[in-house]
Amino acid sequence: MSDSLDSEPRPQAPTTALRQRLAELRGPAAQPRPLDARALAALAANPGCERRALLDGAGVDKAALATALGSPATFGQSQFAFMRGNAFEAKVKSDGGAELLRLMGVESGADVRVPDLSAAGPEGRAARTALALREATAEAAWSLLDHPMLALEVAGSPAYLEPDAVVVAPDGRWTVVEIKSFPMIDASADASKVGAAARQAAVYVLALERVAALTGGAQVAHDILLVCPKDFSNLPTASVVDVRKQLSVTRRQLTRLTRVEDIAAALPEGTTFDPQCTPEQLTAAVESVDAAYAPECLAACELAFHCRERARTAEVVGALGRGLRGELGGLTTIGDVLAAARGTAGDPDDPAVAALRRAAALRAEALEAAGCR
Ligand code: SF4
Repeated sequence: MSDSLDSEPRPQAPTTALRQRLAELRGPAAQPRPLDARALAALAANPGCERRALLDGAGVDKAALATALGSPATFGQSQFAFMRGNAFEAKVKSDGGAELLRLMGVESGADVRVPDLSAAGPEGRAARTALALREATAEAAWSLLDHPMLALEVAGSPAYLEPDAVVVAPDGRWTVVEIKSFPMIDASADASKVGAAARQAAVYVLALERVAALTGGAQVAHDILLVCPKDFSNLPTASVVDVRKQLSVTRRQLTRLTRVEDIAAALPEGTTFDPQCTPEQLTAAVESVDAAYAPECLAACELAFHCRERARTAEVVGALGRGLRGELGGLTTIGDVLAAARGTAGDPDDPAVAALRRAAALRAEALEAAGCR
């Protein structure tokens, strides 16, 4: 078994020098926070934010950093919700996976294998998972991989990801299963929550495809199984979610991320995000890395309140929404936009500038017609 495990694909480990640099950025007493699928999905949704890419790549505890900056995050699961979610997941996977397969439409009585995936550390667990996937595919039987570990290299940092489950079908098809505790009412659930689950699942599919590429006969499904409580009960129900769109966006965005070592190399000497530093020192450290704040950050990043305040102070148009930021092109501040509209700055051949001038002229005409001037 050890030969097989040693031959598994693994993300490239950071060099010793980079590891040391990242440890300095976290602070001497801080343990690195592992990158998870939720963080990768958020990174993929905002690939222009070097601040998040660096902090996540360095394993900085962003919640602790936000608190030390004086802008604590307010999102996250309560302990009660966490426990309820765990109990629901255990129910879904009960009876040796029979309930889960029933939700997939498999006839009752099917033989389901549940391989042991335990191994030392995330690297060992990822290698054990890859081996179990290969064995399950070769056996051509139903297998349930409970909390497998998948590896993916992102912006030069290794990430280890743990989906709720992966089911291997006798035909070699691998399906990601996401178990969520938000309700599915009359067969539909909150679209924003389903979207977040789909983005997260797409990261798992991406990581699984690396393993499948080395496994003959394996195919990773681009439909995932989303399992939720039915209506307001504790009974599980499931829906198939097509994640092809999220998969192509995630794949493209993650390759656009600047490598963590390149961002770290551009920082001023002595920069650290150690939560033990003063708020002034931390503010300077955070400001030394470019950010791309948008209102969507509020639901996805612990630093959102801090970044929002800085973006508003700097009158950055991104604070008004990503759509608007995209339409305004090179006009990045409200001052730039107003100057362009008034005709005191900006290239008149720029479509955004031309549209702003036209809008300003129409507004002036309307005000004059209304006698407001
Ligand atoms: S909140 Fe700040 S650090 Fe987080 S993604 Fe948004 S801009 Fe980047």
